[in-house]
Amino acid sequence: MILSSHIITGAALGANFQNIYLMPTAAIALHFFLDKIPHYDYTIKPFSFIVSAKVFADIGISAITILIIYLFFNPNINPTYVIAGIFFSVLPDGFLLISFIFQNKWLQKYRQFHDFFHWQSQKNPETNGEEKKIPTFWNLSAQLIVIIIALYYLL
Ligand SMILES: [Zn+2]
Repeated sequence: MILSSHIITGAALGANFQNIYLMPTAAIALHFFLDKIPHYDYTIKPFSFIVSAKVFADIGISAITILIIYLFFNPNINPTYVIAGIFFSVLPDGFLLISFIFQNKWLQKYRQFHDFFHWQSQKNPETNGEEKKIPTFWNLSAQLIVIIIALYYLL
């Protein structure tokens, strides 16, 4: 899923599941569960200025949304847990990015592990994990539904 989906669901998890020992595992599990749902992703390869602008906007919009919720709607959420929830929710894609930059067999294995949980590469092995046309319905709604549910738990 795009980073906004992982950031907002991670924040919702951190705000509601304040067990410092189990939350990192739960946040990482949530990441892989969400990746399993058919959804739209923008491709980051080949990396370019446009791609970095997309990633920046993706992170920025979700971070500002959470900040607005904290400042104006729900000051009771614990920022430490919210930030920890976001960190562990995004971590699997952080490792994925590292695996694109550095080549070694452990990172390669990790990428296979991530791809195994990712719906596109499992459903369409012939595309080798690359972007493939998906039904517009899912393209538009899967992540929107996930984000709305997460926002409900943040507010
Ligand atoms: Zn992922």
